Amino acid sequence: MKTVVIGAGAMGGLFGGLLASSLSSDDELWLVDVWKEQVDAIRARGLAIEEQGQERTISVRATTNAATAGKADLVILFVKAYHTEKAISDALVLERDNTVFLTLQNGLGNEEVICRQVHPGKVLLGVTNQAATLLGPGRIRHAGQGKTFIGELDGRTTVRVKEIAGRFQKAGIETEISLNIQRLVWEKLLINVGINPLAAVTGLKNGQLLDHPETLMLMEALIMEAMEVARRKGILLEGDPVGKVKAVAEATRLNRCSMGQDLDHKRRTEIDVMNGAIVREAERLGMTVPYNRMITNLVRVIEKTY
Ligand code: NAD
Repeated sequence: MKTVVIGAGAMGGLFGGLLASSLSSDDELWLVDVWKEQVDAIRARGLAIEEQGQERTISVRATTNAATAGKADLVILFVKAYHTEKAISDALVLERDNTVFLTLQNGLGNEEVICRQVHPGKVLLGVTNQAATLLGPGRIRHAGQGKTFIGELDGRTTVRVKEIAGRFQKAGIETEISLNIQRLVWEKLLINVGINPLAAVTGLKNGQLLDHPETLMLMEALIMEAMEVARRKGILLEGDPVGKVKAVAEATRLNRCSMGQDLDHKRRTEIDVMNGAIVREAERLGMTVPYNRMITNLVRVIEKTY
C-alpha cells in the first residue's frame, strides 16, 4: 500500500511517522507539505517524535511536490481546514481509479470540500482522539493517546476500510471501524463548539469554563443549538452530549485549547468548520443559532484585526 499524508505538521507527522515505522517491504509512505523547512528537516535528519520525555527519530520520505510520490492507494489529509481546498487540488496528481482519500481533520465541512474535487465514493471520514504538537521543523510531540475511528460515508464495512484500520493498528494507532462515522464527527464537533471559541475569546483554560456560571451557561447554549441542528439533519446523537462536553472540559482542565492558542499567537483558527459550520448548516435548514453566530463573528473579528 502506498500512503501519502498531505500536511506534515503535528498530526500528519504523527500518523505519517507511526505508519512509516511499521511499513512492510512492499509498503511505501510519503509526507507532503508546502512548508519547505519542514520537508528539508525531515529529509536531512528524519522525523523526531517526542513522547513522555523520550525521543525517537523515524526515517520518512518527504516532499513539497505531491507528484514526486507517484500514484497513491491512500491519501490522508491532515492540513488545517482552511487549506483543505488547495491541498486536495494539489493532491489530485496522486489519484488513480482506486485511490482512497481519508480526512481525519477536525470540524464539519472538510468532506464537502473534498467531495467537490474527488468522487464521494473515494472518500472516507475519520475522527481521531490522538493529539500532537509541532515543536519545530522535523520535530513533533505525541501529546496524547486516544482512539481513532474511520468509516465509509454510507456506513458499510468494506475491504478497504478494514485494510486501512489494519494498517493503523499495526502502527500502534488504536483504530475502530465506525458504522456511523457522521455521528462521531458530530460528537467531536460538539466538543469543539462548546469549548474552543469560548475558551479562546475569554483567555481561559478548558476547565475554567466550568467554574463560572456565565461561561457554563454559554457553553450549554452553544451545544444545545448545535444539537438541534444535528437533530434536524437526522444525526442521532447518543447519551448526554452536554454532559460529555463538560466531562472533556474537566478532563482537560489545564489545557489551553487549540483555538485559544491560535488566537494567542495571532494565527488563523478553524472557526469556520466549528461554530461557523453550525451557523451555515442552520441557515440551510432555515433555523437561527444566535449564540453560535455571535461567537463565530467574535472569533472572526479578532482574527481580522490582529
Ligand atoms: P499543523 O498546522 O501542525 O499542520 C498542518 C500542516 O499542513 C502544516 O505543516 C502546513 O504547512 C501544511 N499545509 C498547508 N497547506 C498545505 C498544502 N496545500 N499541501 C500540503 N501541506 C499543506 O496542524 P495539525 O495540528 O496537524 O492539525 C491538522 C488537522 O488535524 C486540523 O484539522 C486539526 O483540527 C486536526 N487535529 C489536530 C489535533 C492535534 O492534536 N494537533 C488533534 C486532532 C485533530
